[in-house]
Amino acid sequence: MAENPGHSEAPGPGDALLIVDVQNDFLPGGSLAVPEGDRVVPVLNRYIRDFTAAGLPVYATRDWHPEGHCSFAAQGGPWPPHCRAGTRGAAFAPGLKLPEGAVVISKADTVEKDAYSGFQGTDLAERLQAAGVRRLFVGGLATDYCVLNTVRDALAAGFGVVLLEDAIRAVDVKPGDGARAEAEMVRAGAVPVGREGRAG
Ligand SMILES: [Zn+2]
Repeated sequence: MAENPGHSEAPGPGDALLIVDVQNDFLPGGSLAVPEGDRVVPVLNRYIRDFTAAGLPVYATRDWHPEGHCSFAAQGGPWPPHCRAGTRGAAFAPGLKLPEGAVVISKADTVEKDAYSGFQGTDLAERLQAAGVRRLFVGGLATDYCVLNTVRDALAAGFGVVLLEDAIRAVDVKPGDGARAEAEMVRAGAVPVGREGRAG
């Protein structure tokens, strides 16, 4: 399948949908907005509908930072304050139709540690294994940070990864960061789908 990027992959037993950090602060108007970040929402909603209809589980990670988090500029970190736990900015995009029973994974919820990957400092891997999940369909924000690191860790933990290329967007601090991240994920073994029909 990896030889045929762009072809659709049908979800089945052992598959789960993993939605990365689709939170208000990462959408246009948010404190750490990802360009076109809102565009992933309707695409992910279609995947949510498909997975739910097939009885397959949905997982959603979120940045969940305390005040004074080490990633914030005032603390010497690279980012403006964002996704402070319990605030509107940390809430999932209002248009994202997470199903009842979606498993929410909070990360980087202590002052001294940051985590781009949903596997870092969480029990995500154990929960996936306990649920019999072997392959993850991954989309969300942002391609060049949390999606990249989550996919790296998923592959390293032995999960298969289908990368939903029409359901990710990049920060692109340096132009091309997103494209480089996508290429790295594919080189590492992620199977890209959904590229056809996407502008740019
Ligand atoms: Zn963060």
